[in-house]
Amino acid sequence: MQIYNTLSRKKEEFVPIEPGKVRMYVCGPTVYNLIHIGNARPMIVFDTFRRYMEHKGYAVNYVSNFTDVDDKIIKKANEEGVEPSVISERYIAECKKDMEALNVKPATTHPKATEEIAGMIEMIETLIEKGDAYVAQDGTVYYKTRSFQQYGKLSHKNLDDLRSGGRSLLVSGEDQKQDPLDFVLWKPKKEGEPYWESPWCQGRPGWHIECSVMSKKYLGEEIDIHAGGEDLIFPHHENEIAQSEAANGKEFAKYWMHNGFLNIDNKKMSKSAGNFFTVRDISERYDLQVLRFFMLSAHYRSPLNFSADLMEAARNGLERILTCVANLNYLLDHAESQEITQAERKLAEQAEEYPARFDEAMDDDFNTADAISVIFELVKFANTHVGEGASAEFIRTIKDEIVLLSDVCGLIVEKKEEILDTDIEALIQERQEARKAKNFARADEIRDTLLAQGILLEDTREGVKWKRA
Ligand code: AMP
Ligand code: ZN
Repeated sequence: MQIYNTLSRKKEEFVPIEPGKVRMYVCGPTVYNLIHIGNARPMIVFDTFRRYMEHKGYAVNYVSNFTDVDDKIIKKANEEGVEPSVISERYIAECKKDMEALNVKPATTHPKATEEIAGMIEMIETLIEKGDAYVAQDGTVYYKTRSFQQYGKLSHKNLDDLRSGGRSLLVSGEDQKQDPLDFVLWKPKKEGEPYWESPWCQGRPGWHIECSVMSKKYLGEEIDIHAGGEDLIFPHHENEIAQSEAANGKEFAKYWMHNGFLNIDNKKMSKSAGNFFTVRDISERYDLQVLRFFMLSAHYRSPLNFSADLMEAARNGLERILTCVANLNYLLDHAESQEITQAERKLAEQAEEYPARFDEAMDDDFNTADAISVIFELVKFANTHVGEGASAEFIRTIKDEIVLLSDVCGLIVEKKEEILDTDIEALIQERQEARKAKNFARADEIRDTLLAQGILLEDTREGVKWKRA
């Protein structure tokens, strides 16, 4: 598997730190509002990469944080006259709803910054002890960028230019910085802000220290993949590297992955310019599977333009797969023979090329655009070769391939209708009768049909019992 690494600016062979395991951290949203469709891009693409790695047999430990203390959260809390936690908890819950509708799997752990303050204080203390951070007069703690020799290795920026440009983050105690590139690890509280006790002053952490600490706590000092949108390369990820590597004395992350930006009608998304959509806005017009499909139709590192036309194209593309699967299900319900014929077996062997080519595309830096084209080819194959008169085994083989590859992309292409208790009872009755008549093939088929719907049968002395899996 080849992954493009922002650190080396090259595709590199993926070699996990621990065989068979992947430790992955994805910077999550700041929760002060409903997430917008730009935020959905990293969620969808990195969830798809996780699913693909799981499909390849890796155990993936996937951590994604919620930034729940931040100026924007505090501002909104003050406007509404509530505690900041009311705002952050509200939007974490809303974000989780959107993730579910986008079929983004919950992370193994979703840490929240406010619950990890002790770990942040500890890491800042280590950095001060090692001489990589200093305390200004007002209690602000800064990271001393000059002490980290490799500062700039991720963003490949010319630091002297940056310094002379005087790029700085406006914070209290700004004038007490030793270098314009020094950044805040801890800052004193202001009136009306939440704060925590610390050895330096009552205050709150800077943004970057969050991810260094949460990544270390849940994944260890060295991780395989750290990911996020490309806007995070500098300064956020550059600063995370400086903090973590100075504090731990180890390489922080082996592969740095960044998704390109999503624009709307070829312009940067902006509320004031009126081209801004939340995921919720889109859900009023489209099934969110369409948004997921749209995001995966492009390479994750390319900029992606959102427009009504492209969403229509995505809707049609997804529809083509859904229609094919529905057709195959219809054929399956009406198939007259079970057993695969010689000719069908040949075709089924031919169709094995599609999953192989799907993997090839995904192994090449997760080329989901090509992987989806392979699903389309498979759909075309099904439409051409699987029709009336096909055996159930053949239909199932081709259908399972389409469903599996779609599932790796997180696309739900088979609508599972909830089976009613009365239907289950009727099928169990039919199975009993089939068994009595020694029609074991039909009896087994009914068992399988029910199993596919998540219904488990148990033959007991008192008769057949069933439960939903
Ligand atoms: P934020 O809440 O701004 O920290 O963003 C959360 C995640 O969404 C980060 O990984 C950002 O890089 C990403 N992100 C924000 N805006 C966009 C966008 N327009 N296109 C793609 N990714 C974005
Ligand atoms: Zn982060």
